[in-house]
Parts: sequence; C-alpha cells; structure tokens
Amino acid sequence: MSDKLILVLNCGSSSLKGAVLDNDSGEVLLSCLAEKLNLPDAYITFKSNGEKRKVDLARHPDHTGAVEALMEELKAHGLDSRIAAVGHRVVSGGELYSESIVITPEVVDGIEKCIPLAPLHNPANLLGIRAAQNIFKGLPNVAVFDTAFHQSIPEHAYTYAVPREFYRKYGLRRYGFHGTSYRFVADETARFLGKDKNSLRMVIAHLGNGASIAAVANGECQDTSMGLTPLEGLVMGTRSGDVDPSVFSFLAENANMSITQVTDMLNKKSGLLGISELSNDCRTIEEEAGKGHEGAKLALEVFAYRLAKYVASMAVAAGGLDALVFTGGIGENSNLVRSKVLGYLGFLGLTEDKQANENARFGNAGVITTADSKALAVVIPTNEELMIAHDTASLSGL
Ligand code: ADP
Repeated sequence: MSDKLILVLNCGSSSLKGAVLDNDSGEVLLSCLAEKLNLPDAYITFKSNGEKRKVDLARHPDHTGAVEALMEELKAHGLDSRIAAVGHRVVSGGELYSESIVITPEVVDGIEKCIPLAPLHNPANLLGIRAAQNIFKGLPNVAVFDTAFHQSIPEHAYTYAVPREFYRKYGLRRYGFHGTSYRFVADETARFLGKDKNSLRMVIAHLGNGASIAAVANGECQDTSMGLTPLEGLVMGTRSGDVDPSVFSFLAENANMSITQVTDMLNKKSGLLGISELSNDCRTIEEEAGKGHEGAKLALEVFAYRLAKYVASMAVAAGGLDALVFTGGIGENSNLVRSKVLGYLGFLGLTEDKQANENARFGNAGVITTADSKALAVVIPTNEELMIAHDTASLSGL
C-alpha cells in the first residue's frame, strides 16, 4: 500500500470520470462519475467501499464544479492530502506526442493545437486539466494520450490514398485510439504468457462500446483499425466502422441528408444498434439473438465477421500471429463473439478450446485455444486507469 495516491481523470463534453488509485497495488479507493454537466440537473456519483453516494451539482454544474465536489468527497474520506499527482486521459496528441508528458503551459498549447483532430474530446480534456490545476493546487498533472502508442505506426500504414497535400496542410492521416489500453494489454499479455514482449507478434482486439484492433510487434504498434477519427474500422455499439465514403453523397441525393446528419447517423445510430434495430449493448443483442431475433443475429454476425477480417489484416501488419488477444467489455466477457471470430480464423492456426473460452469471463484472464493450436488466443482484461496512474506516478517522480 502506497501513501501516495494518483487521481485519474477522464473528461467528456458532458461527463467526468474519476478514480483514485493506489499506484502500487492498483486498488481503486474511490471513483466517481459526473453526468449531465452544463445542464441544470448535473450530478456526480461517488463510489467507495462498495457504497454509492449521489451529489447534486446544480450550484456549479460544470467540470470545475464536479472537481470541487470530488475534492470535498476526498476530504470527507481523509484522502485529499494523500493525492500526489493527477493523470489525465487526453484523446488526441496528434503527431506532437508519442509518450505521456507532464503538463506545462506548452503542453496545454499542444493539446489545444490538436483540437481539430478531436473536436469533441480535447476541449473537454482541457477543462478537466484546468479544473484540476485550480483545485489540486501545486500537484503535478500528466497527460496520457489515446493516440501516443500508435505513433510508431509506419507511414505506409497511416497514409490515406488521397492527395498528399491534405496531410501536409491539415494532418489528414490515420491516428488510431485506445492506445493506452493497447499498451497495458500488450505488457500484460507478455507477462501472462511468460514471454518477451519484443518477440511476440500480437493482434489485440479492444472491444467495448467503441471497438478497435491493433497489431503489435517488436513491442511497438504497427497498425490499428481506427483512423483520423474513432469512426473507422470495426463495427461498434452505435458506430458503423468502415463504410464506402460515397455514403455521404448517396444519402444527400437520395435521402436529402446533410453532412452533419450522415455523420451523426454513422456515429450514433449505426453499428450493433443500427443493424439490430434493438440495442447497442452486446449483452442484450446476445440474449435476443438467442431467442431468435433476426436483427440481433445479423448484428452479431456482421460484428464477428468484420472483426475476423480485421484480425487477418492485422496479422499482415504484425508479420504473423503468435497471440490474438481479446479485451474490453465484449472481448473480456462474450465467449460467443470470441467463438464466432475463432470459427472464421482456423486457417491462421487458431483452434478454440470451448471450455477454456467459457471460463475466461468476468475478469478472468486465460488462453482460449487448444494446446495444439498453432497460434494462441488469449483473454486479458484491460485497465486504462492503472496505466494512466503508472505513467503519472513515474513522470511525477513518485
Ligand atoms: P466502454 O467502451 O464504454 O468502456 P466496455 O468496455 O465497458 O465499454 O464494454 C461495454 C460492452 O461490453 C457492451 O456492449 C456490453 O454489452 C458488453 N458486455 C459486458 N458484459 C458482457 C457480457 N457478459 N456478455 C457480452 N457482452 C458484454
């Protein structure tokens, strides 16, 4: 047990997630979720020792109000004076940051410069940084970027086949996201398998509400499915992933939809939700598919098929496949999705161990392929907060 705790903040435009971690043990002593920020009925919920407490933020319903309420809660638990540093999840560091960094005024400028690449997220991340700097006075603040781990992706993998001037003028290229999770899971996979990370060719599928996949070889990221924005790639809860870009002109001409409406449809009404016409939640989709719901059955199949195709393409990027790794809410819990994906991938030398696949759920790591399988498939739970806490502690000299 460490005397010095790390506060990890993850701010969205109308939400703030926080966790206080013991960096040595990984234990979460307190967590919070503020929702409906900037609306009159904003509130924050604290969780500690298995108990939940909801606090109204009506008096100060923004990010600063949420961090103030968090400070009060920490005082009530006697934890405020033990917080030694604050780590911030920052969505885009563009090409500026390939590693986590202590936040200085120059870094704030850098995060601002990356706003065009994450117009919804980076401004919210900056609100969290400013609130923490004001309320946790004097503590080091560290930025941990979703994009950083992907900065090793080679040029031929991040370049879109569009005129180069758009890259030169506007930075139009593939950046990738979920990098903090990939970095954590790559380390954990090597540890779990007792292998050297630098000699493992891994394809890691991070399957949550947002979903992406990455190739890691020689300890570095080689390619990933998300691109300029988190819309590209796999089928997700409400996001379409890959579509023909002509969908914009097609729907403009045939459905009289604007660019904003199509973008909104692809981000918020598509994916599992759009196909099933039922839900974005994989649990619900599985339950209803089990009862014979046609939309749910199709949604699962499209999800698994796209994922399997991407595993094969990421094996190209990794130069082969030693381990396919599943993580994120769906990857860690859905033995059905995993089984479907492995079913498509026998030709890559993956053979499912049905019992092991059923056992590897609810936080249990495990190898889910048979002993004679040529490549391994593994389930490894992710922990982005802990990775942020580790970076924050080490960069703060703790
Ligand atoms: P986020 O990207 O918001 O962090 P999570 O990583 O928590 O999301 O993943 C959420 C997804 O995980 C949801 O689609 C949820 O239905 C799915 N999930 C969680 N538990 C199970 C389960 N037991 N079986 C299938 N899917 C599950």
